[in-house]
Amino acid sequence: MNGVGQVKLSIVVPMYNEEENVSVLSERLFKTLETVQEPWEVIFVNDGSIDRTLELLLEEQRRRKGLCIVNLARNFGQHAAVMAGFAQARGDWIITLDADLQNPPEEIPRIVEQFRKGHDLVGSIRMGRQDTLFRKLASRITTWLVSRISGISLQDFGCMLRGYSRPIVQGILQNPEYRTFIPALATFFAKNPIEIPVRHEERAAGDSKYSLLRLFSLQLDLMTGFSLWPLRTLFFAGIGVSLLGLFLGGLILVLRMYYGPEWAAQGVFTLFALLFFFVGAQFLGLGLVGEYVGRVFQAVRKRPPYVLGEIYPEKQNHGV
Ligand code: UDP
Ligand code: MG
Repeated sequence: MNGVGQVKLSIVVPMYNEEENVSVLSERLFKTLETVQEPWEVIFVNDGSIDRTLELLLEEQRRRKGLCIVNLARNFGQHAAVMAGFAQARGDWIITLDADLQNPPEEIPRIVEQFRKGHDLVGSIRMGRQDTLFRKLASRITTWLVSRISGISLQDFGCMLRGYSRPIVQGILQNPEYRTFIPALATFFAKNPIEIPVRHEERAAGDSKYSLLRLFSLQLDLMTGFSLWPLRTLFFAGIGVSLLGLFLGGLILVLRMYYGPEWAAQGVFTLFALLFFFVGAQFLGLGLVGEYVGRVFQAVRKRPPYVLGEIYPEKQNHGV
């Protein structure tokens, strides 16, 4: 048992409707932590679940030492939930984990090992990834795109079994961005990062909390949150498209003079096609600009990423 402020390792787990996973996760997680030398604490963040997650968590808390429960006022999303956990964590090393057991808790000691070696950010690469082909493909594309345009080189952005040292967590918490993608943001603060391969398993129970739309919006956060490159591309593409339009206009004029008006009438559909193309490009561009404007709006509003409900503090810290 340790006094307040002496915790070395904090485990943060966001949970949204994970009633089927609470007990198995707790079992495996606490069992693994018994093998860790340093004093630790576990923070479960209930992200506005509408099932029995909170109830089951409170039950776990009655049985276990070193468990703190942060209850958010409603559902704010995985990354906001992790932020809430960060704000509560007291350890020098903070490890995040998904509740669905896709990241085996048994891998935690390997991350701790990297901290001991002096790394301040421990990423993980999913080995034998157990997700749908579509998700894997989407991850591939995102990883490629993000590392190209933001200069952040991570092999796997999506795996949430990660370790962050205290200064990085502090940096993330002080970041005014409303919507962000924690693994990517963390690299910005890191001095000595490392990525290690970890096992990946199928979701133990329940369904993924990400619909296609939510997934897409997360990808957009990742893309627009770390680079202005899409905006610049838009600018150059805009110039390119206008030049092309000018050239085609000239060409059509010349051909019209050469072949006469009949030809021009037959070209109506080509013109329509061109028009659609340009209108489409404009909409795309506008949408992209809108995305940034939206982000600026959210940032200047300075709304907090989450609203706390209750915190159920642990009775005592646990560790050796
Ligand atoms: N999660 C959350 N809030 C949400 C959505 C998800 O706290 O709004 C948690 C969820 O309970 C899980 C983790 O984030 O612990 C990852 O979610 P999920 O397994 O559904 O994502 P996937 O593995 O499909 O990417
Ligand atoms: Mg999952």
